[in-house]
Amino acid sequence: MTGGGTGLGRAIGIVLADDGFDLAIASRSPEHLRDGASAIRPHGARVLEVPVDVRLPDQVDRMIEAVRQEYGRLDLLVNNAAGNFAQPAESLTPNGWRAVVGIVLDGTFFCSRAAFPLLRTAPAPAIVNIVASYAWMAGPGTAHSAAAKAGVLALTRTLAVEWARYGIRVNAVSPGPVHTEATDRQLWVSEEIVQAITDDVPLGRFGTPEEVAEAVRFLASAKASYITGQVLAVDGGQWLGRGALHLLEAASESSRRPAP
Ligand code: NAP
Repeated sequence: MTGGGTGLGRAIGIVLADDGFDLAIASRSPEHLRDGASAIRPHGARVLEVPVDVRLPDQVDRMIEAVRQEYGRLDLLVNNAAGNFAQPAESLTPNGWRAVVGIVLDGTFFCSRAAFPLLRTAPAPAIVNIVASYAWMAGPGTAHSAAAKAGVLALTRTLAVEWARYGIRVNAVSPGPVHTEATDRQLWVSEEIVQAITDDVPLGRFGTPEEVAEAVRFLASAKASYITGQVLAVDGGQWLGRGALHLLEAASESSRRPAP
C-alpha cells in the first residue's frame, strides 16, 4: 500500500492486518512509515517499510522488488498516496500541478504497472485506488487533484477491463470528508469550513478513517469477487448533494403555522 504510514492508509492497513494480510507500506518519510508500522503490527501483521517516491518509476520498481524478496507474492495493491492543497487554478504553478498529478496519477500508474507481474500470479489479485468525488464532479480549488483523480478513475476502469483476463480486479474507493492530520492541516482549516462541509453532507457528518477502510476491505475480499471497474463512494451521500428539500420543508412548515 502506498502512503500506508498516515491517515486513511494507516486505518486501511489495520483492517487488512485484522484480515490476515501481511503488508508493505510505502511512502517518502521514514518517520511516517515507522509510526504506521508501529500502529499496524499489534494487529498481527508483518509490516515491511519501503521508502519510495511514487513519482519515480525506478524507485517504484525497487519497491515491488522489495515486496517480492520479502513475501514472494502480492495479492493486493492499494494506491492511496496523494498530495493536495487548495489553490485557485489561475495561481497554481506548473510545479504545484506537476507535484500533485505526479503523485496521484503517475504514481498510481507506475505502481500498478510495476505490481502487475506479481499480481497476475496471485490466486485472487486486486487493486484498490483511493479517489475523491471531484474525479467526476467539480473540485474548485483542487484542479490539480481533481484532474489527477479523474485520471485514476479512468485508469481504474481501463485496467479493470485490460487485466480482467488475468483475474485482477481493479476498483476504487471515494472517501468523503474525513479528518486526518493532513486534511486538518491543509483542507479543513477552520470551523467555518468544517461546518459548511458538514452541512453539505446528507448524513450530516464527516466520515471516519475506519469507515473508508471497511470499503477497501470489502473490495479486496472474496465477497467482491465479481466486482471490477467500480467506484464505491464512502461519503455520507455528499456527491449526490443535499438538494433544496430542507428549504422547501422549512417553507411549507412556516406556511402551515397558524398566524398569531
Ligand atoms: P495523508 O495522511 O496525507 O496520506 C497521503 C499519504 O501519501 C501520506 O502517507 C504520504 O506519506 C503519502 N505520499 C505523499 N506523497 C508521496 C509520494 N510522492 N510518494 C509516496 N508516498 C507519498 O492524507 P489522507 O487524508 O489519509 O489521504 C489518503 C487518501 O485519501 C488520498 O489518496 C486522498 O486523496 C484520499 N482522500 C482523502 C479524503 C479525506 O478527507 N481525508 C477525502 C477524499 C479522498 P509521506 O509524506 O511519507 O510520503
